[in-house]
Amino acid sequence: MRILVISDIHANLTALETVLSAAGSFDAAWCLGDLVGYGPDPNECIQRVQALPNLVCILGNHDAASLNHIGVTAFNPEARQAIYWTQRALTEQSRIFLANRPEIVVMGEVTLAHGSPRQPVWEYVMDTYVATQNFAYFETAYCFIGHTHLPLCYVLQQGEQTAVAAPPEPDSISGLLPRTIINPGSVGQPRDRDPRASFAIYDSEAQTWEYRRVAFDVRDVQERMIAARLPERHILRLEGGW
Ligand code: ZN
Repeated sequence: MRILVISDIHANLTALETVLSAAGSFDAAWCLGDLVGYGPDPNECIQRVQALPNLVCILGNHDAASLNHIGVTAFNPEARQAIYWTQRALTEQSRIFLANRPEIVVMGEVTLAHGSPRQPVWEYVMDTYVATQNFAYFETAYCFIGHTHLPLCYVLQQGEQTAVAAPPEPDSISGLLPRTIINPGSVGQPRDRDPRASFAIYDSEAQTWEYRRVAFDVRDVQERMIAARLPERHILRLEGGW
């Protein structure tokens, strides 16, 4: 099966549509949370993702906050502002969809979590120390995560004590080694100084990971953010991918 792996769409329909056109055909879609927050198109993104084939979609921290399921105090003031905006914008149907998202899912050889397998909604896996600890919290060969908006890969080889970070090369296909924690990066708000949308294709037979970047029309989504009076910082950061 060719499985589209996407994360952190953040209500950016322009980036999402661009990724879907670039991805080619796929048999299933796995979405690693944060469908909403920051961007101007929460309902549109939810509808688009809901229609993807064999969808598995888990809960992110922005999704939970937009439902008022977790407090907003842990978010910085501008992120909070975007969450309040999203809370007002969400339709009842969108709310129901988000409210039914699981925090963690196991699909064959893969565990899916937004932040980490240890703390699925909140923890950031940003370094080998945290990554190494997290290998004790899932049993499958692989764990796919989002949340940091950084495409990153951590491998813990048999007999080793410490995971090794292996940054993936854009537009390359690599074999996945058991055991691996891997992040496809963010569709709607990349933060690795590359403003292109980030996603991956996981081939569950070949056990390969195809990491892709694709440029989207940043101006298009920025115009809708300006019209919605979303925080300026979130509008600007899309240009530089920070
Ligand atoms: Zn996010």
